[in-house]
Amino acid sequence: MPCFSCGARQTDPVRGVSPWKRGVRRETQVLICPDCQRAHDLDLDTCATCGSVALICRLGEVECRSCGAVRLARAGRPAPAGNTAVPGGSGAPGLADEVQAALERVLGRTR
Ligand SMILES: [Zn+2]
Ligand SMILES: [Zn+2]
Repeated sequence: MPCFSCGARQTDPVRGVSPWKRGVRRETQVLICPDCQRAHDLDLDTCATCGSVALICRLGEVECRSCGAVRLARAGRPAPAGNTAVPGGSGAPGLADEVQAALERVLGRTR
């Protein structure tokens, strides 16, 4: 996966900790190269609880690696404006419904 901001590709993995960071932007998991980490306008999603950008986006969930808070992602819904979705995207037709159902459970709309 290339850097979401400048498109650079991760070079040979160095032993130990990679200087690349993972983050979540618009509820999409992204990688940030060491250069772009110095920028302050990365527009990354932050944890609603602690404000950290160390988030992981998994299927339908965004988890904070700093405080462990988990929230549901809205991803999977069709974007209302700017329909730039990749055709055939995730290839999981049932996922959007699942996320929707989970959201409604959280929002307390159970019948
Ligand atoms: Zn970059
Ligand atoms: Zn947090």
